[in-house]
Amino acid sequence: MLRHKKGRWVWYASRSERPVWLDAKCYPSIAFDGRELPRPEWTCQSENGGLHVDARVGRIDVHVATRPVPTMEINWTEPYALNLVSRSWADLWRDLVDPDLVFLGTLLLDGQEIEDWMSVHGIRQPALRSKSMTEQLCNRCGNRSTWTHGGEFFNEPHVGDQVVLVNGNGVYLREDVVRERGIRTPAGSFEPSYVDWRVPA
Ligand SMILES: [Zn+2]
Repeated sequence: MLRHKKGRWVWYASRSERPVWLDAKCYPSIAFDGRELPRPEWTCQSENGGLHVDARVGRIDVHVATRPVPTMEINWTEPYALNLVSRSWADLWRDLVDPDLVFLGTLLLDGQEIEDWMSVHGIRQPALRSKSMTEQLCNRCGNRSTWTHGGEFFNEPHVGDQVVLVNGNGVYLREDVVRERGIRTPAGSFEPSYVDWRVPA
């Protein structure tokens, strides 16, 4: 039996076809699937060989090869799909993050900070779920990647009081805060949808 708790999040995800590439010369490399990939210290390789952002790492400062597309406010890195947000959008909500769980990091281009962008990554963040979905769990770092099919929800008890959540599927802000503050949808996001909180009754 599931109970719908009050409150839900607005889900923002980048629709960018121009992700921001990591700067390979700043990282060790690893051969994967026939190509050389940068292998930052904040990545993890699961037992089946898949590489992803390490779920145990908090703040991530990232070396990038190019500036993000300036007409967007939400984007992601290639490879590894680390979420990137413009500072102007993040300024609308960054005072509300739980500093033990969600971390904003710096983008560096040739050693210089790109001041109008930030990375955002969290620990103990919930997996996005739906009734029918595919899930991949990494036994090393605990990362859970899910591919959902509508009617999304979170079902982890500890996230109920969190305003800002982030995972591999995007960035989430509590709907009541979005309304109170009039927070706009970031340029470059898909039309946002809502994510419920369902915890076992
Ligand atoms: Zn892992």
